Amino acid sequence: MTGDALALFGHPVRHSRSPAIHTAFGRQSGREIDYRLIDVEGGDFTAAVTAFFAEGGAGANVTLPHKAAAAALCEVLSPEAERAGAVNTLWRREGRLHGHNSDGIGLRRDLEANLGLELRGAQILICGAGGAAHGILGPLLQRDPQSITIANRTLARAEKLAATDPRCRAIAYAALAGSFDLSRHATSLSLQNSAPPLPDACASRALAYDLVYADTPTPFMQWAAAHNAARIADGWGMLVEQAAESFACWFGDRPATASLLTTRGKF
Ligand code: NAP
Repeated sequence: MTGDALALFGHPVRHSRSPAIHTAFGRQSGREIDYRLIDVEGGDFTAAVTAFFAEGGAGANVTLPHKAAAAALCEVLSPEAERAGAVNTLWRREGRLHGHNSDGIGLRRDLEANLGLELRGAQILICGAGGAAHGILGPLLQRDPQSITIANRTLARAEKLAATDPRCRAIAYAALAGSFDLSRHATSLSLQNSAPPLPDACASRALAYDLVYADTPTPFMQWAAAHNAARIADGWGMLVEQAAESFACWFGDRPATASLLTTRGKF
């Protein structure tokens, strides 16, 4: 292996921006980063991870659909990974496989440090109750928001997630009313070029934040713009900040993110 070997395990992975982000982070501290995209399906995941670390891999990221499998594989979990039941960052230390979930911390850092949002006392709406919503809930709750409303097509799934904390409540899209400080889109509807059926008021006064990043506004971002959202952001900042958190797990130093945030992947 040349340089520090890192990898992303998932399916699909070919569009990932992680190699470019981590190569740029490595440059800051004079590290040569060899970041590979490893496309694995189903049962091949465990064998692929085991082989990667046996060959001296310094660390790895995990994306869909393997985040829960990665958590099950770890011998040591961070509190964030334990709460989310999902791991997106792996490394070996003293012969043991460690796992962390940097998604929620990455989102929180983007909201607070980059977008200047005060989460303490905030009224938050999360659209979606899947894996992406699970990963962000704990780090948001740590900031003591006034409330987190979880809206989802399948209400039972939102209810299960909301039951983890008394400040959370579950609701169907059709029953939503009122406005929020933060409206956070975390469904897979962007893949279908669509957005959840939200009342107009959910956009007004809110920071409307999409999970995904894109060169052109997503349907959720277009909806927010059409309904007077105070501010609109996509998930590029979260991607960069969760990557910085992973990098700190592997190498101990948290890289600066400012230049990547402004170049938006065009580097
Ligand atoms: P997931 O666990 O499969 O959950 C999908 C969510 O989207 C559920 O809340 C689902 O509602 C909702 N949904 C799907 N189709 C819908 C429709 N037609 N109408 C209304 N709601 C619909 O997926 P996920 O892991 O949360 O990921 C969601 C998206 O985020 C994906 O596009 C993924 O690529 C992206 N992403 C995920 C992560 C992560 O950490 N997981 C990180 C970055 C990006 P129901 O419960 O009713 O099915």
